[in-house]
Amino acid sequence: MNDDEKLKESNGLAERIWKIRDNIQELENVKEGIIHFLLSRKKLDDVTKNLWISDVKDFYYNTVSAWEMLNSTSKGNLKYLDDSKNFLHNARSSLAKVISEIKFFKEELVLNLITETENSFENCWSAFYNEFDILTPEIKSTKHIKRVIKVSDSEYHLPCSVCGKISVECKIGYGLFDDHESLVYSGITHSRSLKKNLASELFKILKKRDLSEVHLFMKDYLCDEGIDAYCPECDKIYCWEHYNARVEYDDGFYDCTMGECPAGHRRMIDD
Ligand SMILES: [Zn+2]
Ligand SMILES: [Zn+2]
Repeated sequence: MNDDEKLKESNGLAERIWKIRDNIQELENVKEGIIHFLLSRKKLDDVTKNLWISDVKDFYYNTVSAWEMLNSTSKGNLKYLDDSKNFLHNARSSLAKVISEIKFFKEELVLNLITETENSFENCWSAFYNEFDILTPEIKSTKHIKRVIKVSDSEYHLPCSVCGKISVECKIGYGLFDDHESLVYSGITHSRSLKKNLASELFKILKKRDLSEVHLFMKDYLCDEGIDAYCPECDKIYCWEHYNARVEYDDGFYDCTMGECPAGHRRMIDD
């Protein structure tokens, strides 16, 4: 590609990213619509009302931040690409929360509001992903991605089988609230500390690179869902993005996180 073509291409990119602001403008109108709706409901106490309004704002401003990060990425700061994706995924989670909250009102108006909000976010989502796909450095081959990475005798990592991003860490160390050393698990939905004396058994399985056995181990000692980043049917690890993880809410309270792998296998990955 010569310099002229490069310039043309980067102009096209900048133009398209600028145009996403139209989608965001539409989202802002939707945000104002929901806030107006909540403010005008009489059967909602002020505390709840304010909480729910702040969730609506969360949803909107996460999308705005995603755009700002995308804009920086397009100017050559590729390190902001992940931030942009994170903000957009946070926006999707906040949206799920908002929808579960406004469903409290059994009014026909609510159904329209939900459809309108979902459609306008869907438009944003695909506009963003169109650019993400172009900007994400091409993964030439997944062959070089290891199933298990041994960092040291007391630390192992499991990378995403699609992009190589570290999705699970198992190590001896201190969890956030630990006052003594534990076996610390950090996955795509949560971190938790297990008894340190379980480490030798786990590390033995990790050494064999047997993910299904690690999954069973986690089902026994961590939680019913096992490794949150693992699809048992594919026998593969996926990061949050490639597991297409989605948080679900019930009346504004966290319900669970569902994952759907690139092959379409769906399961609950956190409860
Ligand atoms: Zn990935
Ligand atoms: Zn799968």
